[in-house]
Parts: sequence; C-alpha cells; structure tokens
Amino acid sequence: MSAYDVLIVGAGHGGAQAAIALRQRGYAGSIAIVGEEPELPYERPPLSKDYLAGGKPFERLLIRPASFWADRDVAMLTGRRIVAIDAEARTATDEGGTAIGYGTLIWAAGGAPRRLACAGHDLAGVHAIRTRADVDALGGELAGARRVVVVGGGYIGLEAAAVLAKRGLAVTVIEAQDRVLARVAGEPLSRFYEAEHRAHGVTLRLSAAVDCLIGEGRVDGVQLAGGEEVPADLVIVGIGIVPAVEPLLAAGAEGGNGVRVDEACRTTLPDVFAIGDCAAHANRYADGAVIRLESVQNANDMANVVARQLVGEPGDYDAVPWFWSNQYDLKLQTVGLSAGHDAAIVRGDVAARSFSVVYLRGGRVIALDCVNRVKDYVQGRKLVEAGAVIAPDRLTDASVPLKELI
Ligand code: FAD
Repeated sequence: MSAYDVLIVGAGHGGAQAAIALRQRGYAGSIAIVGEEPELPYERPPLSKDYLAGGKPFERLLIRPASFWADRDVAMLTGRRIVAIDAEARTATDEGGTAIGYGTLIWAAGGAPRRLACAGHDLAGVHAIRTRADVDALGGELAGARRVVVVGGGYIGLEAAAVLAKRGLAVTVIEAQDRVLARVAGEPLSRFYEAEHRAHGVTLRLSAAVDCLIGEGRVDGVQLAGGEEVPADLVIVGIGIVPAVEPLLAAGAEGGNGVRVDEACRTTLPDVFAIGDCAAHANRYADGAVIRLESVQNANDMANVVARQLVGEPGDYDAVPWFWSNQYDLKLQTVGLSAGHDAAIVRGDVAARSFSVVYLRGGRVIALDCVNRVKDYVQGRKLVEAGAVIAPDRLTDASVPLKELI
C-alpha cells in the first residue's frame, strides 16, 4: 500500500495551497494530492467568467504548472475519488478499492453543485458550473442555443448570465427570492445588479419558483410554479453546493452541512484537518456563528493555517473574508460578511457605477461591497478588521477617504 506523511484529498484551491505552503515552510515529509478531476489544480473563479467567455485557455487557469509539483516532490494522484476513510487504520480508499495510507489527512474536497430536485432535472441540456468539464460541456452546446435559462440569481448564475448575454443569447434568470444576491448582499447592491442585467437585455424573474424542467430527453423549457413555461435551449443551475464530506462523516467526524473544524482546522478525527468550502467553522466575522465560506481566500487561508500547524508554527484561522465578482465591466470586491446587518449605507455614485455599500451592525462596520471602487475596498478592510464604529453620515460623504474615518 502506498502511504504519505500528508495526504490531501481534493486537488482544488485549498488542496493545492496546502501543499504549496507546506513546501514553502520547509516541510520535508512525503505529500500526495488525490483529486477526482483529471486536471492538475486550477483556478475555479474564471469558469463562470473569462473561461466561459472563451477569453482564457485552460492552461492559464492552472494554479501551478506540472513541473512545479514534480520539482517539489508532491505526488499528484488525479482522476481518483476517495470514498472511505478509516481513521484508526489511517487510510483513504478510492472507488477502485485501493487504499492509501496517511500520517495526516487534509480534506479539501469542496462541494458538488446542488441539483434541482424536480422532474426533468437530469434532462440533456441542463448544466452546472463547478468544474472545467462542466464548462466544456456547456460551451459545446452554446453554438446551437438561442435561449438560456439560468436558475439561481447568486454570483455564479449572474456571472454566467453576463457572459452569455454579451454573446447575444437571450438569457432569463429565475430567482426564488424577491431580489438577486439575497443570500450574500444587501438590497442596494441587489437592485443595482438587477438594473445592470436588465440594461444588458437579461430577463429577471424574481420571486419565481421552478416547478419542473420540461422536454423529451432534452430540455426545452422551465415550468414555473403557477404553470407558466419559459422556453429554453439550455438551462444552467446555480443554486449552491452540497459540501463533499460523506466519507469523513461516515468515519465518525462531527458535521452536517460541512465537516466541523476548530480554529486550527482540525476535525474531530485524529490528525484529520478540513479546509475550504467544506469546512464548517466558527467565524469571528460572523459573530462567532458556525458557517462555511465559499471563497478562494478562505480555502487558501485555511490551507496556510494547517501548513503552519504541521511545521510547528501554531496560529488560528482568523482571516477577514474577502471575495470578488466580475460581471460586464463591473468589478465587485467584498470584504467582511454582511449577513445580519441592520444598516446598509451607500457611498459614491451609483449612477456612475462607482459606489460602495457599507454594512453596519449595532453601529459597527461589518462588511463592504465595493463596485469599481478599489480604494474603498482596500481602506474599508481596515474598518471591518477593527469593527470600527462610524456615524452613517460620515460614511456617505465619498469625498472623505475611508482611511480617515478610523
Ligand atoms: P475546490 O476548489 O472545489 O476543490 C475541491 C476538489 O476536490 C475538486 O477538484 C473536487 O473534484 C475534489 N473532490 C471532491 N470530492 C473528492 C473525493 N471524494 N475524492 C477526491 N477528490 C474529491 N471564489 C472567489 O473567492 N471569487 C470568485 O470570483 C469565485 N468565483 C467562482 C466561480 C465558480 C464558477 C465557482 C465554481 C466557484 C467560484 N468561487 C469564487 C469559489 C471558489 O472557487 C471556491 O471557494 C474554492 O474553489 C474552494 O476551494 P476548495 O479547495 O474548498 O474546493
């Protein structure tokens, strides 16, 4: 049986960064990354942006070239899915029944796109956007499509809508909530993005529930609750992910929606860490609530925390969350977590498409969404980190830089 001092499950952002950080810190033990996808680790954000738009070849998405992993003696076991963990024997077994031994296991398996549960969810022409294979499959069908329905008005759905609208397709976004981005942003930001999408010809159906997908073998429409049919040559489903943690939970790790980790990203299994999208952790920026974060920042920062533990440099996960989204020519940068805000202050010029929304809870700055406003993002970060208390009328005055308010 092959065995590694550190076995990383998941060749995505977190898995790659864990190996990079270990070697950067001089870790000399054996390391392997086992990943279900056939590719070497690559950047996922461009999948719904430049890569979907055809503006970036896949090779430019690779987090590191093949030679990097070989030079640093990181074994890449790609195209293998781990289905079982034995925490006592310290083995991870793939679907072919081959066991791999480990000293320390880092679980960085991300999540699988949530599927619609309704009739027709598995018809041909229904796509998710999570992997290169997903986007290649979608891209292969775009040439023959005219009407696209995107189910889900979150970041991935809206980014895909922007790319496809720019390609001249007739795009309809169906969102169950009464505004887009409802889960992640405040109303001013939602309304702004709704206006932008409409201005680019996208049809938004808000407060609209999908009843079923219709078609014989291949999708040709989406039926809404109430009976209305929205015709579609293609359907993209962007309704979140289901964290990939079954083998860990089956092995006895605590968890549910993700696997529970402590401040050092340890699960409740011995020498088993979990990082990235699948790691449920108590987050200071969410008032200590146990959450999962789906961002490159979180995957990388958690990977760094684990690498530090393994080379004897303790340090807890305490990073300020940040995120970005590109739609049309709009660059959104987010810092902090806006959930639970009790005030959303707009500064800057919404009409000029350069503004920020500053979120407060109990008078404290907890997050900012900055649209084409890099300075606010950079300076606002310090306000979030400090939990600064600032009067709303001072925040609205965009002529005063945020750094002067702290
Ligand atoms: P992943 O990067 O998803 O890697 C997990 C890997 O594990 C996958 O390759 C998976 O196949 C593999 N795996 C799963 N189960 C197993 C198993 N049992 N055995 C072996 N391998 C397994 N974040 C941002 O910050 N900004 C953005 O703009 C942004 N845009 C995004 C756009 C898209 C289309 C998507 C899908 C995500 C985007 N994200 C963005 C989120 C970001 O990509 C994720 O948060 C990040 O990839 C999480 O890293 P991870 O290591 O936890 O998981």
